[in-house]
Amino acid sequence: MAYQIQKAAVLGSGVMGSGIAAHLANIGIPVLLLDIVPRELSKEEEAKGLSLEDKAVRNRIATTSTQKLLKQKPAPLTAKKNLELITPGNLEDDLEKLKDVDWIIEVIVENLDVKKSLYEKIDAVRKPGTIISSNTSGISINAMAEGRSEDFQAHFLGTHFFNPPRYLKLLEVIPANTTAPEVVEFMTGFGEDRLGKGVVIAKDTPNFIANRIGTYGLLVTIREMQNRGYSVGEVDSVTGPLIGRPKSATFRTLDVVGLDTFMHVAKNVYDQTSGDEQKVFEAPGFMKKMVENGWLGSKSGQGFFLKQDKEILELNPETLEYQPAGKLKTPSQEMAQQQKGLSAKVKTLVYANDRTGELLWSIFSPVLRYSAQLTGEIADDIVAIDNAMKWGFGWQQGPFETWDAIGVGQSVEKMKQEGQDIPTFVQALLDSGNETFYKEVEGDLHFFNGSDYQPVPVNEKAIDLKRYKKKHGVIKSNAGASLIDLGDGIALLEFHSQSNSIGLDIIQMINFAVDEVEKNFKGLVIGNQGKNFCVGANLGMILMEAQDDNIFELDFTIKAFQNAMMKIKYCTKPVVAAPFGMSLGGGAEVALPAAHIQASMETYMGLVEAGVGLIPGGGGNKELYIKHLKGMPKGVLVDYQNVASKVFESIAMAKVSTSAEEARENNFLNFVDGISVNSDHLIHDAKQAALSLYEMGYQAPKREKVPVTGEPGYATLLLGAEGMHLSGYISEYDLKIAKKLAFVLSGGKVPYGTLVDEQYLLDLEREAFLSLVAQPKTQQRMQHMLVKGKPLRN
Ligand code: NAD
Repeated sequence: MAYQIQKAAVLGSGVMGSGIAAHLANIGIPVLLLDIVPRELSKEEEAKGLSLEDKAVRNRIATTSTQKLLKQKPAPLTAKKNLELITPGNLEDDLEKLKDVDWIIEVIVENLDVKKSLYEKIDAVRKPGTIISSNTSGISINAMAEGRSEDFQAHFLGTHFFNPPRYLKLLEVIPANTTAPEVVEFMTGFGEDRLGKGVVIAKDTPNFIANRIGTYGLLVTIREMQNRGYSVGEVDSVTGPLIGRPKSATFRTLDVVGLDTFMHVAKNVYDQTSGDEQKVFEAPGFMKKMVENGWLGSKSGQGFFLKQDKEILELNPETLEYQPAGKLKTPSQEMAQQQKGLSAKVKTLVYANDRTGELLWSIFSPVLRYSAQLTGEIADDIVAIDNAMKWGFGWQQGPFETWDAIGVGQSVEKMKQEGQDIPTFVQALLDSGNETFYKEVEGDLHFFNGSDYQPVPVNEKAIDLKRYKKKHGVIKSNAGASLIDLGDGIALLEFHSQSNSIGLDIIQMINFAVDEVEKNFKGLVIGNQGKNFCVGANLGMILMEAQDDNIFELDFTIKAFQNAMMKIKYCTKPVVAAPFGMSLGGGAEVALPAAHIQASMETYMGLVEAGVGLIPGGGGNKELYIKHLKGMPKGVLVDYQNVASKVFESIAMAKVSTSAEEARENNFLNFVDGISVNSDHLIHDAKQAALSLYEMGYQAPKREKVPVTGEPGYATLLLGAEGMHLSGYISEYDLKIAKKLAFVLSGGKVPYGTLVDEQYLLDLEREAFLSLVAQPKTQQRMQHMLVKGKPLRN
């Protein structure tokens, strides 16, 4: 059977249900969101004279959850309008509607009996072939499938999302014994391609993969903290970014998850295990006390940390009193900082004979052994475990990658000296004469499967640039960028400067890339796999030149930047930009002139130069204005002023989109530009876009004159800006920048509707940029941004 999901139903509209519904709406799937019928009227309902029989009351729980989606942070929706795709209802009146959907996701309370009784009702109404899954965190999938019809059982499985569903990459897919293999296969593909997730197949064991190991790790950390006399703050200072884990480290993570939720998850394993393993999953007494006190973390205002008068206090687990948060500072941390790469850093730390080293070893050693012990039981292989920990807990390296980093042989020696049992899986690796769980064979990654090595399965859409370059090399490279042959006639221009900021090296490489692609390729992709696509022009370089009064050099640089952007625009082969994450200032300016943008769903795009006292200098003003104009339906009389005002507002306020969808609403993307939900597929999708443009007979755009609003437009924009200044919204200096911007956007001293050449607009823009960059207040803003990482409003 060829499955297809056109419509879905989410049952349960709590934290996870509403988040999953939002994620489905984000990718365009209409969702029915059902919850229970309230047993009592709310005060407002009583006041309105409603009864328990009224639809508004009966749907209230799901309706309220739907409305809450607009207020939550981080935003579950990529655009407010996606809410229209979610239809709230209730589990009594709307069950019949389940026969019209292709996927039913159950996300109700974590209780086997309650879930089973709901399934019984669903079994009676669903049409055969409808996929049904549970988002349970730990209840047995097989137990839930019991007693259901054959067709239900064949289409039933676990789909475990992590909170928040839009942002967390991991999706654990857990087949029951009865699930049809093609259903598992379909959901895996759907999870990766449509939901944009990193899918890991988990076995039906307590808490599946990530929560089993993650909870174990957190509890071991707490145990070692107590046994060895560390404080909460000290532990957090060394269990976060220092070892490639999220900033929230150990205890802030627990505060965010909520202590009650965490204890529930831990208890689930406790109830299903025995012996030493079970002991670890028994939450310590002080945590039970915290829950009794209602100190659940962020949601209750206090947990392991408490913010008081701007000071962060940490809980002392012995006294249950709060004290100023401490930090560990030991020589090994500095030694680690000097190492290159996470692996070397972690290795330095775990073997160090100081308090940081001792704590980290005491945590790493049991967690690594536990992961090895469970391989085969909770997952088919180590790749699934490593991926689950990376995608679900935000670790940069999974347990087995970490083990390779610190040296399997060396660490096993140390474990043996301490009298620890070595898992047979690890002993088998060493006995086979090997030293690492992963190794490269002819450029491809292989993993140890217990007796031998086999290739790590790769989704052909997930191009790993680092690995790709290692295998295929580069065409040309400099300090800021490289040109790579992606195969099939498409080249890739990759930025790899610090924060991927644009300097002369990148500009040179753009020029080279376009020339090379025009001669020898079918198209060009501009993309990378850094933390962000590009945070803008190299501010440090601009500030240095400005402080030295090197206006001539700056003029040259900005001109070169503008020319490179024009080369991208008029390249005779399609250029596809693939932005993701922060795509700011110069980053947006690189994307705007491209023939096509293929953006990651999580793209935060904006022309933010005003924040550093500038206006865009690489053609961004003009390109955003033109993109707005081109977005207008054909045959409609265009109000240029309206377009100029919108662009003016976007640039003057340094607006940044919170998603690619919003970037589209802000006209940085148009309706043919693409959005990739799975960020790992972005380079592949951009390559396909370039190829199909080429195949369709791509023609470079014709150079057209641009209609501008001229002097009347300038006056209108100015009036608005002055109003903002008078009402105190913007500073005197903001107004000065706004004036320059208004002049550039309106095309200077010409009549309304004048058609001007693009070069004329670029010249206006460059003049304005250069006059601003020479101002002390602009230089202060740039300095502030470089030092503090945030804008100064002077
Ligand atoms: P929640 O408490 O926020 O929501 C539970 C929902 O179930 C509510 O909408 C509630 O109205 C509904 N409900 C209550 N009693 C019901 C009944 N008798 N019949 C039908 N529905 C009923 O919980 P949540 O955190 O969204 O968790 C939902 C599921 O997702 C659970 O299985 C949980 O284990 C799992 N989960 C939670 C998280 C998390 O971080 N919170 C993460 C992954 C999985």
